[in-house]
Amino acid sequence: MTIYLNGQYMPVEDAKISVLDRGFIFGDGVYEVIPVYSRRAFRLAEHLRRLQHSLDEIRLPNPHSLTEWADIITGLIAANEPDDQYLYLHITRGVARRDHPFPNPPVPPTVFAMSNPLPAPRAGLLGVSAVTAVDNRWLRCDIKAISLLPNVLLRQMAVDAGCAETVLLRAGTPGEAAFLTEGAASNIFVVKNGVLLAPPKGQLMLPGITYDVILEIAEACDIPYSVRKIPADEVFDADELLLTSSTREVMAITHLDGKPVGNAVPGPMFHKIYQLYQEFKINVMRI
Ligand code: PMP
Repeated sequence: MTIYLNGQYMPVEDAKISVLDRGFIFGDGVYEVIPVYSRRAFRLAEHLRRLQHSLDEIRLPNPHSLTEWADIITGLIAANEPDDQYLYLHITRGVARRDHPFPNPPVPPTVFAMSNPLPAPRAGLLGVSAVTAVDNRWLRCDIKAISLLPNVLLRQMAVDAGCAETVLLRAGTPGEAAFLTEGAASNIFVVKNGVLLAPPKGQLMLPGITYDVILEIAEACDIPYSVRKIPADEVFDADELLLTSSTREVMAITHLDGKPVGNAVPGPMFHKIYQLYQEFKINVMRI
């Protein structure tokens, strides 16, 4: 496996970073995950825009122009197998004596990128099980921060229960019901009476690139949809639940907390959106 670190491609075994790297010490950095189909990065501009947002929000200057990122990515795709991959980009605030404030003067950021094989989307066709948990993360989930301990613990809850994902319900303000935010590593959609429901973007969820694609597909294909706050009881009462992410595309959640969702099989909305997503991917890759 060939990785990229601070301007150089190298075998992963040769890559070394300092123990004083602020990513290692504080989780002080951000990342991106970009799917690659047939050796072409999917929605690259959108992923790099979200990376810029994450960097801006943690006040870390972007170390590379869009063209430089495109070159890094092209090199990484070429250096790795297979044709369908996912890229991981990771930028930290660099190496400095351990102290919470930003290094002053600033130090060069650490820039790391790697590629992994993309799982086959068909794995999601059977449907997966999920558990729910209280969303106990911070209030800036729109930043794709590398400090992922809450997500790690929440996702492990799913694994411990033999499930694929943890669906997060954020406690409401006093008197308000808990509401759906997203999954521990995905966005979640609810389907009720033929309508696709999506939680609104904001600081409590990651603005998923796949989430955007699904809503674009709904708009283009006249699928009824609504973007609005979704109370927890609507999640438990859903006809269908969908999970989306760059690496898992779209999957049906057929069981939640051990109970069936709708008919306990991937439903008509899932099949429609799954099909349209595959077509959308192929069409984009043709351009
Ligand atoms: N929310 C969280 C917390 C995630 O980790 C991910 C996956 N990176 C997503 C949503 C889905 O985002 P995307 O569609 O851009 O992969």
